Amino acid sequence: MEHIETLVIGAGVVGLAIAATLSEHQDVIVIEQNTYFGEHTSSRNSEVVHAGIYYPSNSLKARLCVEGKTLLYQHCQKYHVPFKKVGKVLVAHGEGEKTKLNTLVQQAKDNGVRDLTFLSQAELAQKAPQIKAPMGVWSPSTGIIDSHQLMLSYLNKLSEHKGQYVNNTRFVSAQFDGHYFVVTLNCDGELFNLKCTTLINAAGLFAQSCAKQIDALNARFIPELHYCKGQYFSYQGSHPFKHLIYPMPEQHGLGVHATIDLAGQLKFGPDTSFIDELDYTPNEQAKARFVSEINKYWPSLDSSRLQLSYCGIRPKLYKDAAQDFVIQDHSVHGVKGLINLFGVESPGLTASLAIAQYVSKKVSYLQ
Ligand SMILES: Cc1cc2nc3c(=O)[nH]c(=O)nc-3n(C[C@H](O)[C@H](O)[C@H](O)COP(=O)(O)OP(=O)(O)OC[C@H]3O[C@@H](n4cnc5c(N)ncnc54)[C@H](O)[C@@H]3O)c2cc1C
Repeated sequence: MEHIETLVIGAGVVGLAIAATLSEHQDVIVIEQNTYFGEHTSSRNSEVVHAGIYYPSNSLKARLCVEGKTLLYQHCQKYHVPFKKVGKVLVAHGEGEKTKLNTLVQQAKDNGVRDLTFLSQAELAQKAPQIKAPMGVWSPSTGIIDSHQLMLSYLNKLSEHKGQYVNNTRFVSAQFDGHYFVVTLNCDGELFNLKCTTLINAAGLFAQSCAKQIDALNARFIPELHYCKGQYFSYQGSHPFKHLIYPMPEQHGLGVHATIDLAGQLKFGPDTSFIDELDYTPNEQAKARFVSEINKYWPSLDSSRLQLSYCGIRPKLYKDAAQDFVIQDHSVHGVKGLINLFGVESPGLTASLAIAQYVSKKVSYLQ
């Protein structure tokens, strides 16, 4: 039986970043159940490089987003990944939202994001023409990125070193003998076994179902999973936006915001709705709600130009509480060599390289 140092389950942006980082020092294989990498959450998001504004002090999200943003911009330059630091304008309406925005600016400072500035009405009109808001804040370090090219760059880095990427290969189960994992994989319908010292579960929306197939892991360490769908409407034709526009965040998302991609295409979303099955079908009926949300900051929206676009699904751990990334090693669950990543929702794309460094420190400690 082949014996490798590390097996990473899942070739989304997080699994690929981890595998690419580890490949600098050891042999690593990253497996993907699908034919192509990154077909789930990593290609169904806003493609925004977040500044690190929203997340509670000392949370993994705050730390890894702020660290990850810097690492990501450096990586994009080095590997020629298309990105643009376009900046974003946060807008607030009414006294309640103004208070919320002031609190966010303070939270950002606590997280180490010290470049936010309050905009005068003249500056707001200049940065965000047609946007109506009594209060606006400018975030210059927010950007947009080509997530597919980013994943390709991680794959390139992986293959430059000792790493391998294997598609059409599904993790089935793992047995731990106290030192090694004997992993069963399904490759194009055929089962085969592999031995590894470290097993990293970065399966995103499937992380819980993979974790349940690791015999030594006590089920009490596997958190619940709730699918929280977010859909987008794209805007056809020209528009006045030069920067991203964000309303105040909601409980489970950042609010129906306006983003532009690297080609200049404007889109709105994502909204939030909990669903029972993994289903990426978008829903036209959400349009009226989108129009009402967008009208709050862009009253001159031409709603006939809004077209149903795509959906992404957040791996929520709770329906009624805020959540952090959950990255478990043996100090949590007692299984030496196993690292599970649960609930890696936004800002997981931004944080991918910082998550990778965080995980690789845990791996080097193990070996
Ligand atoms: C609507 C939405 C908007 C977002 N916007 C942003 C944003 O603007 N900026 C930002 O920073 N973050 C954003 N995020 C978060 C970001 O997209 C995710 O954090 C990130 O993509 C998660 O990557 P991942 O690799 O953990 O998961 P995934 O991309 O889901 O990858 C997991 C991979 O594991 C594979 N897999 C699963 N089970 C198995 C198995 N048994 N065997 C082999 N392979 C398996 C899957 O096929 C999949 O390819 C957003 C998320 C959503 C849902």
